[in-house]
Amino acid sequence: HHFSPAVEALENEGAYAMMARAADIAKSPGPPVVHLEIGQPSYPTPPHITAAAIAALSAGATKYSPPAGIPALRAAIAAHVSSTRGVDVHPEQVVVGPGAKPGLLLALLALVRAPGDVVIIPDPGFPSYAAAVSLAGGVPIRVPVGPAGYDIPALRRAARGEAGRCVAIIVNSPGNPTGCVLGRAACESVAAVAIEADAFVLSDEIYSGLVYEGQPGEAPYTSMLSLPGMAARTVLVDGFSKTFAMTGWRLGYAVCPPYLADRMSLLLVHAVGCTATFVQHAGVAALVGLANGEDAALQGMRADYRRRRDAVVTGLNAIEGVSAAVPGGAFYVWADVSAFSEWGYTAAELASMLLEEGRVAVLPGTDFGPGGEGYLRLSYVGEDDEVLEGVARIKTVLDRLR
Ligand code: PLP
Repeated sequence: HHFSPAVEALENEGAYAMMARAADIAKSPGPPVVHLEIGQPSYPTPPHITAAAIAALSAGATKYSPPAGIPALRAAIAAHVSSTRGVDVHPEQVVVGPGAKPGLLLALLALVRAPGDVVIIPDPGFPSYAAAVSLAGGVPIRVPVGPAGYDIPALRRAARGEAGRCVAIIVNSPGNPTGCVLGRAACESVAAVAIEADAFVLSDEIYSGLVYEGQPGEAPYTSMLSLPGMAARTVLVDGFSKTFAMTGWRLGYAVCPPYLADRMSLLLVHAVGCTATFVQHAGVAALVGLANGEDAALQGMRADYRRRRDAVVTGLNAIEGVSAAVPGGAFYVWADVSAFSEWGYTAAELASMLLEEGRVAVLPGTDFGPGGEGYLRLSYVGEDDEVLEGVARIKTVLDRLR
């Protein structure tokens, strides 16, 4: 069968494909496969949040809600974003959706005005960016991003529109797959390019709740929304999946200028109707709880992640030919294995060997764009023992290769 070109071009996200391969390998004789490919928290959702959903269900919150969200949740999100980003956000700027992913897609559907409009995406970056831009009819242009942020001359060239009018730049800090948290200067450079190009910034801040340390001498975390002149041209996307361990609930939001929020709300009407109403009540409990100091579960998670991050980085750096910087946020380590290219191994080949010979699943950096060649992404959401066993198996396999 034939589909639309944008749908024909869709590929599965690397993590899903790797999970399927890992499940296959697990059927062959040998020790259990260690999973370092998965990007979802292993924690249960904090019980006060689950309890709020159950109470809402029992109280009959089982009907459609307004498309952009129940007023209590839009207000709670506005208050949360105001306090965490240090800007004034109003409920009419908030659009609730079933996850952060729909926020990205719907914003792009609204912002890409003509076929060929360019949206700049980070390389390496989250695989759904290129897919969402293409689905919206735009052309994704990859620009290299490193620990110090976008390659600004390359960003400026792409934004100047030689390949087409640039309508948006996607920024993701803390970032998947690198875990990097961008410093203020890096964010300001992107803002300057966006203003010059009269483009929007789509700021994917889904990992904003998982920042361990930022740049020395700075606030731990800079949001694009908080920079001068940026509120008028930023779509901040965030959600509950990572911060509150709620991946399966499907709850996220976008914060943008009200005129764009109205359009996204219309898109929601026709695409999903609304986000599950009782789930939205759980979201209110999560944010109101957090504002009232109910953060023990989150603090515990963050402390665990940070401890595992340090252990993984130390373990990886002890392997000859591997080096990894300490990432400031999210729950990924981006390991430089480019030394193995000397022996002819690509990142994809290394990931395959690690799975087949070491029974440890990691993602090749190239799942996140060509800029990921020479890297592996390890996620440290598993238990301490499992994560360390994974690093030990990586060492065993890689030590044999040199
Ligand atoms: N953005 C990034 C960078 C992610 O890594 C993920 C999840 O892996 C998402 C967005 C999706 O978040 P949600 O579950 O809210 O749709």
